[in-house]
Amino acid sequence: MKENESSPLVVAIDGPAGAGKSTVAAIIAARFGLLNLESGAMYRAFALKAIQTDSDVDDREELSRLAAKTRIRLLPGSAANRVFLDDVEVTKRIREPDVTAAASRVSVHPGIRQWMVSMQRQLGESSGIVMEGRDIGTTVFPHAAVKIFLDAAAEVRGQRRYQQNGPAGVQAAESVLEELRERDRRDRTRAESPLQPAADAVIIDSTKLSLDEVVTQVAAIITARLASR
Ligand code: C5P
Repeated sequence: MKENESSPLVVAIDGPAGAGKSTVAAIIAARFGLLNLESGAMYRAFALKAIQTDSDVDDREELSRLAAKTRIRLLPGSAANRVFLDDVEVTKRIREPDVTAAASRVSVHPGIRQWMVSMQRQLGESSGIVMEGRDIGTTVFPHAAVKIFLDAAAEVRGQRRYQQNGPAGVQAAESVLEELRERDRRDRTRAESPLQPAADAVIIDSTKLSLDEVVTQVAAIITARLASR
């Protein structure tokens, strides 16, 4: 649906892993009174289902049959989303490295992406949202009022992700960076809605920016867009 001044505000934030999308999206959502929806959490929940059922993450037919038997729900909260897989909360479990790796693989399959996109569009139907992911501005909400593509140098993203994992993190810094590069490569080269900025997205490179600086830029873009509606 094309956006007009009466449609709920949709802010799409896309970009590679570790660019800071989740943190920025949560702050922006709170500031503008929007729901904050993490599309990656849905791919992660489905990846967990594949792990639990011992499914082959590279077998698209097997995964499509599995999807038909899977229920995923996102509950936007004040911080990260709470995530439910077949009515069981999996919010913490889906952040573990095995799920991260599997999410990157299940997300290449067109059938799985189409299923996710239709669920994601429904989530954005009735209220203003910030949705972050890889294909929000290009595919899920091509008419979003605001599209941000948040990028940063791979080394910086790897370092941020490593620090985010904290002292209890099980991975060494090099393996975090290696895995991040591999996920990026898969996201950018897949045939179905690869990771790329929408033609009308504002690209923000946060390599040398603080979180505050990025938030200030995004907030200014939204404020200007709201004023011109
Ligand atoms: O954003 P997050 O790291 O939680 O996403 C997990 C994986 O899900 C990504 O590595 C990516 O392959 C996939 N994904 C996607 N499209 C989205 C969101 C996530 O393909 N809109």
